[in-house]
Amino acid sequence: MDVVESRSPQNPADLVASAPVAGADGVADAVRRARAAQARWAGANAAERAAALTSAAEAVAGAAGELAELVVREAGKPVAEARGEVARSAAILRYYAQQVFDPIGAVHEPSGAGLAYTRRRPRGVAGLITPWNFPLAIPLWKAAPALAFGNAVVLKPAPHALACALRLAELLALPEDLFQVVPGGPEEGAALVEAADVVSFTGSAAVGREVSVAAVRRGVAVQAEMGGQNAAIVLRDANLEAAAAQIAAAAFGYAGQKCTATKRVITVGNAAEVREALVAAVAKLGVGDPSDPGTAVGPLIDEAARDRVVAAATGGRTLTGGAALDRAGWFAAPTLVDDVPDGHVLACDEVFGPICLVQDAGSVDEAVALANGVRYGLVSAVYTRDLDRALEVSARLDTGLVKVNSPTSGVDFHLPFGGEKDSSYGPREQGKAAQEFYTSTRTVALAPA
Ligand code: NAD
Repeated sequence: MDVVESRSPQNPADLVASAPVAGADGVADAVRRARAAQARWAGANAAERAAALTSAAEAVAGAAGELAELVVREAGKPVAEARGEVARSAAILRYYAQQVFDPIGAVHEPSGAGLAYTRRRPRGVAGLITPWNFPLAIPLWKAAPALAFGNAVVLKPAPHALACALRLAELLALPEDLFQVVPGGPEEGAALVEAADVVSFTGSAAVGREVSVAAVRRGVAVQAEMGGQNAAIVLRDANLEAAAAQIAAAAFGYAGQKCTATKRVITVGNAAEVREALVAAVAKLGVGDPSDPGTAVGPLIDEAARDRVVAAATGGRTLTGGAALDRAGWFAAPTLVDDVPDGHVLACDEVFGPICLVQDAGSVDEAVALANGVRYGLVSAVYTRDLDRALEVSARLDTGLVKVNSPTSGVDFHLPFGGEKDSSYGPREQGKAAQEFYTSTRTVALAPA
């Protein structure tokens, strides 16, 4: 592959961006230049760093309309969600601009005379490897803290997110070489892992595992956020109409292409009612052109993704959907399936698209066991009016995030984010956790001469 191309999922003839691949040498060169820029940046005072991030936030907010259109065109994200992503991106930059002024260490009483203090220092060049489904927000929730705490950034975006990454780099207008984008695929990603001082990855579990192993072998800090197989448990006392509407939106919004999308619904003694409410809620979702403000479900990112969804719809009973849509772009109908045989892909793995499995449990214990019985552990939801029950079930769900009476998708950017099992490796992202990840601590012990 000599050139990376990004094409619009609703109109594959539309070439949104193309760029020569960086190649392994290009990546190594970018990291070298970033290292020089980082030395200058870390020498800048806190107020200068905060000002640069605040200007970057204003630039993103000022280009909100243009950026949302680009996210719609390049990633096929429905425009309402694309606008939300842009707003969140600006908010992330503002939030970390403020964190520049947070304490970066502590003073300790040593066992002898004098005092000891700790001080956090940047790690150096942060290598960021990102997916296409949040083409602005994911690069920024990694880059903003990395920059705030004195690192430089080299970003290797997914090929499907190339235009967004390149436009972001222009808009941020940071000092030269401080935020670079290296176009490419697996080769460039792997080269970045070999050269960066700290690695943050978001994407599929298979690639995340490879990236983590390579980074650990080099002895550099790494975090990997990967897939999900997220379950929503609907208890008998749930507000069924609200639960069904939220689950439909979380399973099928942006055609289910979110790591936090609901992939399984677990009924507990209310199998028929939940199915009926879900099918009715799905029928209300707008499916079609992502630039239409009424659309909730747009196209899949590419043909292979669309075909995987259609293939996954076989082998069980289809409650609604189940086929590709006969329209331009890579569309599949929102699909609810039940009654799949043991080992079916929908019961064990992440199918990144608008398809969701309904499973039935005879008791709360059985529901928890079903929810936990997959290799992923990103997020789960439980719907009930009984707070004691909600707390008890939350404590037993083996996921990094648990949502009560709210959808699996949607996470506040200031809360720690990450999963268990094959969903995550390494420290949490977002919130205050990011300072720890993008810095290391130096302890200084002072004694009188
Ligand atoms: P992907 O794993 O195919 O690609 C992710 C990134 O890794 C891309 O930039 C890709 O070019 C790069 N890459 C591919 N092979 C590589 C290699 N061998 N070495 C280094 N880099 C390599 O994922 P995707 O299809 O872009 O995104 C979809 C996946 O991302 C889904 O599994 C989804 O659940 C996951 N995701 C997770 C989160 C989260 O926070 N947990 C958020 C969004 C998406």
